[in-house]
Amino acid sequence: MYDDLINPQPDSAVYKTLLESTRAIPWVIDWESAKFTYIGPQIETLLGWSQSSWVTVQDWAERMHPEDRERVVNYCISQSQSGVDHEADYRALNQNGDFVWIRDVVHVVRRENGEVDSLIGFMFDISERKKTEQQLVILQKELEELSFKDSLTGVPNRRLFDAILEQEWVTARRNRQPLSMILLDIDYFKQYNDSYGHIRGDECLKTVAKTLNNAATRSRDFFARFGGEEFVFILPQTEEDAAKKIAERCRNLLFKLQIPHEKSQVSAVITASFGVGTIIPEHNDNPVEFIEKVDKRLYQAKQNGRNCVVRGN
Ligand code: GH3
Ligand code: MG
Ligand code: MG
Repeated sequence: MYDDLINPQPDSAVYKTLLESTRAIPWVIDWESAKFTYIGPQIETLLGWSQSSWVTVQDWAERMHPEDRERVVNYCISQSQSGVDHEADYRALNQNGDFVWIRDVVHVVRRENGEVDSLIGFMFDISERKKTEQQLVILQKELEELSFKDSLTGVPNRRLFDAILEQEWVTARRNRQPLSMILLDIDYFKQYNDSYGHIRGDECLKTVAKTLNNAATRSRDFFARFGGEEFVFILPQTEEDAAKKIAERCRNLLFKLQIPHEKSQVSAVITASFGVGTIIPEHNDNPVEFIEKVDKRLYQAKQNGRNCVVRGN
């Protein structure tokens, strides 16, 4: 009585039990008639359609997400015609009108003369895996965004600044166009923290960043937190006069905020000092030296009494 278990024959009860108790759903299609000769009863649990409703290949194709249908059907037909085992992921339609992600793994059975006889396959429910994959994609995107974003202020960070400067530098050099930069540093910010506390200091930086982020309006103008209480603009195709005007506009915007700063030695409210520089990059110039040049002017602005803009001659 155990013969069937030890040496099971095709079509035997043991095979049937095995096939119908797996989570994967077995099926067989006769190639010539394009009809199902078998599909596991598990299909009904997964998709709701009864076992007997799976008659032709057409039933399979119609119960597929319209966006997947053409790609998957064409692929499976061409692989089967060439007699190649294959697998395909697609969204199968269930009876409620929802979709379930399926991986169909297909083995092509040939006759002795090489002609395709039938297709044998297993459908796997891969919804959970797809969900995880999609979550990973979303997380990846968030991560990319975060790594270019300053976490305190939400404006672009130093990393993105470096990348954008590199790009604009090459463009300006190729097109022989002026590239301007504004570096600014809040005045007496250490004293601000000392008198109002670090939390208020953080709030102040957020407000400043939000305000200055809209100060330059051309599409390729770029604003970032350079570090600490320093911010930077990259202004492509911009002459020094125009850049100076933007720096003055920033000074005004900061003044209008009227953030009290009682310990500042230059004003009763938050102010900043600005360095402005412009370059048409030549081959022997480099961005780091350009930043240093602009930083020297910022330092000069501090020396000149702060709350002012220093540019080249
Ligand atoms: P100066 O006018 O010469 O620029 O004086 P300063 O006090 O602004 O200059 P300094 O560079 O000595 O101090 C900068 C201060 O900015 C010190 C640091 O604690 C503060 N700071 C830098 N990053 C942050 C931050 O993320 N949050 C807060 N609250 N403070 C910060
Ligand atoms: Mg500083
Ligand atoms: Mg400062």
